[in-house]
Amino acid sequence: MALSNTEGSKGLLQSRELFEYVLETSVYPRETELLKEIRVITANHPQSLMSTSPDAGQLIALLQKLINAKNTIEIGVFTGYSLLLTALTIPQDGKITAIDMNKDTYEMGLPIIKKAGVEHKINFIQSQALSTLDELLKDDANRGSFDFAFVDADKVNYQKYHERLLQLVKVGGIIVYDNTLWLGTVAMPEEFVKEDLKPTRLYTIEFNKFLANDDRVQISQVPLGDGITICWRL
Ligand code: SAH
Ligand code: CA
Repeated sequence: MALSNTEGSKGLLQSRELFEYVLETSVYPRETELLKEIRVITANHPQSLMSTSPDAGQLIALLQKLINAKNTIEIGVFTGYSLLLTALTIPQDGKITAIDMNKDTYEMGLPIIKKAGVEHKINFIQSQALSTLDELLKDDANRGSFDFAFVDADKVNYQKYHERLLQLVKVGGIIVYDNTLWLGTVAMPEEFVKEDLKPTRLYTIEFNKFLANDDRVQISQVPLGDGITICWRL
């Protein structure tokens, strides 16, 4: 059965066998049925590779538990793997502000989110993320009100999202950025990189350098999935 969007890929690990080992041993046995279902329906989507890698997802859920995340924000929903993961992790009265300019892909996963009984936690906003973040910042009540943010949309805007999220996420809260190793291309000579990956490779290199010098956050870049960078708001 085509369960995994990661099939055929080895993530960033040295072999596909090692990646499969991590998934089969530590990730899939603990992944709930409904999250699996989102993976299955997403596998048929031509852009299924965009879905959050389950191994990275497992760490994201752990971080959310560790800080008791209740009010969260997600930029880049797609079919909802990371969204459902978060919705299942935060408490019954938790809230997720979920932003994506594409509603069709959100609606692919929505029946599964409903089946999981967590739709009430989600406020889906169909919009360009930048304008929604600016909208949120107009209300002082939103400043420092979020415990956790997951950013997984257009990489060209990560730095702009970061500036806004630093105002929205409370001190002690966490912001996670996805795809910060961009299929390993950040460390490849440019001539070896496929043409369509080149622009985002450059944005990602710039963003990684920027984060490394940003003393408003404590960071850790973790080679799970396609690379995630965890930022703890100081
Ligand atoms: N976290 C998702 C994957 C997100 S894929 C998962 O686990 O499945 C990236 C998503 O970002 C796409 O759905 C795309 O529509 C959205 N996106 C890209 N640029 C955006 C923008 N400027 N504003 C809002 N959403 C954007
Ligand atoms: Ca991603």
